Amino acid sequence: MRDDTAASRLGLTSQRLPLPAAVDRTRIVWSYAITVGLYHLVALLAVLPWFFSWTGLVLGALGIFVFGSLGINLGYHRLLTHRGLVCPKWLEHGFAILGICCMQDTPARWVAVHRRHHQFSDRQDDPHTPLVNFLWGHVGWMLVENRDLARLGIYDRYAKDILRDPFYRRLERSFLYPTIIIGSWATFFLLGAAIGLILGDEPPEAVQLGASVLLWGVFVRTVAVWHITWLVNSAAHLWGRRPYDTGDDSRNNWVVALLSNGEGWHNNHHIDPRSAAHGRTKWQIDGVFACIRALEALGLATDVVRPNPNLPVRPAAESRKR
Ligand SMILES: [Zn+2]
Ligand SMILES: [Zn+2]
Repeated sequence: MRDDTAASRLGLTSQRLPLPAAVDRTRIVWSYAITVGLYHLVALLAVLPWFFSWTGLVLGALGIFVFGSLGINLGYHRLLTHRGLVCPKWLEHGFAILGICCMQDTPARWVAVHRRHHQFSDRQDDPHTPLVNFLWGHVGWMLVENRDLARLGIYDRYAKDILRDPFYRRLERSFLYPTIIIGSWATFFLLGAAIGLILGDEPPEAVQLGASVLLWGVFVRTVAVWHITWLVNSAAHLWGRRPYDTGDDSRNNWVVALLSNGEGWHNNHHIDPRSAAHGRTKWQIDGVFACIRALEALGLATDVVRPNPNLPVRPAAESRKR
């Protein structure tokens, strides 16, 4: 009998594709599971009025752009994974550090997993296709062991170019990665406390503002950026139009595009992955590409890959079909 419950329509219960053969559902990746669980729990403290401040809220919202759009979308994705532009090394490493502060693992790991996604998109060996089900594509895939994603194997296959850079190698082998993350916590706390003291707060109130900025600027922001990134993997392979015949289920999803500053034009991205622009029409707003063009104008980005103008577009009626 056809399962037509709301849960199944959302992709929560149906399973159209089997899990990758290398997945062992009984083996939890505790480092990820604990991190994802703890960050969500800590972020929930934001409901307590004691932690609220407008400074924290504004810094958290700005952080979604600075860390999520510049760190993950521009840095990890368009620059490092797809080489859609070239930046001076100091700037490339700067974007990578912003990406690291989003707790989405090291640049080499992110790049390798994402390149595998493009290679096997929406087939069984895709690490995170939502055609298994929505929750698997959104977050479940990273919480259980997948031997296909064992570090040394995927690095050798997908991230050799990244690991030629000593900075990215150090992030794999030393304490540099956790140091950057803990350093970002300290920076946010101290920034909040300093703002409080400058505005004339007594020390206890300055500590409270520091805690607020830490909570909103780091924990709430990280959880928000996670779900935005994860929606590109889940929603933008389930809902939206498919103007290009990519052979997978990637979609142009305007809600995800708005949230992610352009990454939701995901069908455009899958047909033309190296293009630094994901929006292809005037109305497909792509804030990340606007930043790349600004960098180019300033001489800080070169070899910016433009969209291929010669791709055949499917008829509108076809592109709407599921
Ligand atoms: Zn995709
Ligand atoms: Zn990509």
